[in-house]
Amino acid sequence: MYTYKCVQTAKELHGWYVVKNRRECTAERLLINPYNGCSVGCFFCYARALPGNFELFHKENTIFVFENFPEVVEQQIQNLNVASCGYLSPVTDPFQEIESQFQLSKKIIEVFLKYNIPIEFITKCKIPDEIIQLIKISDSDDKNTCKKHCFAQVSVLTTNENLRKILVPNGASVDILFNNFKRLAENNIFSVCRIDPILPYITDKKEDLKEIVFRAKDNGVKHIIASVMDIPLKIYDYVMQKIKEYFGTSVYYDYKKLYIEKIGYLNAKLDYRMKIFDFLRNLCDKANLTFALCMEYRIVDEDTYEGLNKIFMSSTNCEGIDIPIYVRKPTEKKFRAVDSCDGACLNCVENKCGIEGLAQGKSYPKGFKLKDYKRFSEKFVESFTMKLL
Ligand code: SF4
Ligand code: SF4
Repeated sequence: MYTYKCVQTAKELHGWYVVKNRRECTAERLLINPYNGCSVGCFFCYARALPGNFELFHKENTIFVFENFPEVVEQQIQNLNVASCGYLSPVTDPFQEIESQFQLSKKIIEVFLKYNIPIEFITKCKIPDEIIQLIKISDSDDKNTCKKHCFAQVSVLTTNENLRKILVPNGASVDILFNNFKRLAENNIFSVCRIDPILPYITDKKEDLKEIVFRAKDNGVKHIIASVMDIPLKIYDYVMQKIKEYFGTSVYYDYKKLYIEKIGYLNAKLDYRMKIFDFLRNLCDKANLTFALCMEYRIVDEDTYEGLNKIFMSSTNCEGIDIPIYVRKPTEKKFRAVDSCDGACLNCVENKCGIEGLAQGKSYPKGFKLKDYKRFSEKFVESFTMKLL
């Protein structure tokens, strides 16, 4: 049973959290969490290890609903002239049950579209029809519509419905998840299938992974993202007890032996992960799909980690679609895409947008905050990049 608590908020949009220079996300995003907590109920959920409201979410199943967040987001966007694609939501499912009552995700999508800034979402639930209608390109949209850069990511961990009910108890059924892809493709919306996370010895059989990839492809997916489950130290005992309870003592001991690499969270051994990623990359190559990993690293030395996308990613951007940065003149309401930009700031050398700091994000080792976007916006107004418009 979940309980809901409505709260007012003044929290700010921000970019990726970067810890110890670990960053694999190629493109910038504006991260948006309208809810703190998630009723989808995955036992391995990383949000269970987060501080603040998330502690109550984990202990008492309390979900915090930031009722006024769409208005707050709009006020913040009004003060920007540089914006990246919105991302709903890094630590909760935007289409969990409570969304049908409060519709905060929908309202935030409407705000982004109002200013012509693209937005993406990730879900393990059914994508509401009205959301697909909102982000699909319609006859009345002009050629500069940001909708061409709106897209959806759906996480599919298994094709076994009984297993799905254990792993993602209040998420959508396997059939509904694959039907999400079909509905997106029918409306020409780019979609990503995330096999994320892969649970060792539980959802990692080659035949099962192959079935996910090909069923996703058959339903219109063009890009696959994968990651092997990490275990935050804070919830290690909780996760391991669940593994024992659902999958038995033998799997529990296998996990004890496998999870020995500490890269922020506890990670499965590198050779185990590499074998899976190698298999998936080859499979995607054969299936003519692009492939990338999400936040997978190897330890170089105590303080240095190397992202594995260097080896395994076959797309320009890890999310499989190139979304440029969006800018506007202060006198205009709507943003426009910077034409020459593929959005891969992490690997960008030319910095054609001229927005100092975005390329490779080196001057901002902890990630971008709203104040950084404001500074980019001020500089942008003064700088030659106005010519880009
Ligand atoms: S859907 Fe995502 S945010 Fe929700 S419980 Fe599962 S892992 Fe956590
Ligand atoms: S031009 Fe380069 S630095 Fe500027 S937004 Fe695009 S990818 Fe990022």
